[in-house]
Amino acid sequence: MTSAGTVIIGTGQAGFQTAASLRSEGYQEPITLIGDEPHIPYQRPPLSKGFPLGKQDLASIEFRPAKFYADHKINLLTSERVAALERRDRHVFLKSGSRIPYDKLVLAVGARNRLLPVPGATLDGVLYLRSLDEATALKARLAAAQQIVVIGGGFVGLELAAVAATLGKSVTVVEALPRPMSRVVAPAISQFFANLHTTQGVKILCGATVTGIAAAQGKAVGVKLSVAATLPADLVLIGIGVEPNTELAQHSGLATSNGIVVDDHLLTQDENIYAIGDCATYPCAFAFNQHLRLESVQNAADQAQHVAAAIAGRREPYRALPWFWSDQFDIKLQMAGLSYNHDHIVTRGSADSKKLSVFYFAAGRLVALDSINRPLDHMIGRKLIAAGTPITFDQAADESFDLRTLAPKSPPTQ
Ligand code: FAD
Repeated sequence: MTSAGTVIIGTGQAGFQTAASLRSEGYQEPITLIGDEPHIPYQRPPLSKGFPLGKQDLASIEFRPAKFYADHKINLLTSERVAALERRDRHVFLKSGSRIPYDKLVLAVGARNRLLPVPGATLDGVLYLRSLDEATALKARLAAAQQIVVIGGGFVGLELAAVAATLGKSVTVVEALPRPMSRVVAPAISQFFANLHTTQGVKILCGATVTGIAAAQGKAVGVKLSVAATLPADLVLIGIGVEPNTELAQHSGLATSNGIVVDDHLLTQDENIYAIGDCATYPCAFAFNQHLRLESVQNAADQAQHVAAAIAGRREPYRALPWFWSDQFDIKLQMAGLSYNHDHIVTRGSADSKKLSVFYFAAGRLVALDSINRPLDHMIGRKLIAAGTPITFDQAADESFDLRTLAPKSPPTQ
């Protein structure tokens, strides 16, 4: 009997990487890669960076040209939405009517924008950013707009603020919490980026709650705040996070809890169904095996490679160190590890020199590292955290101490 092979739902970072890695693992069975977007798989990070600035075009953000899929016998189905799973018979049902069998199924269905629950949030002139189509619309609207209010001072919001300011627009960022990016970085890093934006002309309002979007003739003309007058705006960009796409899994009886629940092999309760990337919550070795759902290229790509290896016959627990980056103006922020349970912070370098690292320790052990324009610290930090190599507070703080002398020789592995 011919094998039904592997079906992958979602053509984002995780779905694309699974298909590509299966072939590089030597997997010979059929691969079907299904996505509801009309485009061949592309990268999302440039959508809030080089793409709206006109520095990157569609061709430069595609993972591979269309020919790649034919050359590697990957059956790529775009503009096709999977409506349901039939786990007993191992089939997926497309909304368009087809039924596709699988031996192994990979849910790489990602996440969608969290919607702002205030009056006026669906007006013309209020935009979100997740997909290439949304980025294309945003780029066109940015060109015509003058006064932009960005709601949300997280990574995507701040990157968009930097883009808009670079394009010469008047920009205000509204953040509900006391400082930007407060959920993920130390106060010193937040302060650095707040100063950076301010010196580039961006206004940042923290601790401010949006109560509605003001309208005139059906269009957004301002953002209403609980504490101040309405901020005028001819374009409102919302970046307040995402919600995982769990419905397919949930309706087929798989466990979900802020993500599709998987084990340390990235398997759901069904031994033939994996879930990876932004949609999955997994026991993270770098967070005492607590279930976490991470939203990053590293997480999507590493989990995809891991699952491809497992399907190709090499099964082992997933144990990759989380890392992330953000580009704002000419500054690169790189993060390694997870800082949420830290009890001590050490800084290296200075904000004045625009070269600063923050080392996060928990019970004397390095658990995370944020670096601004210090790529070597980031690369070495990844190795140290992954290997659990001891480093003292003094070594971390002392710029004359060469961190490379501590680094394990081999690169961090999964
Ligand atoms: P997604 O990229 O969300 O892909 C899932 C795909 O599945 C989507 O195309 C979706 O439409 C499709 N889908 C869902 N349900 C179905 C269905 N039923 N049938 C068919 N298709 C379906 N990360 C970083 O590390 N660094 C960055 O600088 C960075 N910048 C970012 C900037 C932006 C603007 C955005 C949006 C994200 C950024 N990220 C960044 C995050 C990173 O891009 C994501 O974590 C990563 O793309 C997640 O990949 P994924 O494949 O898990 O999910």
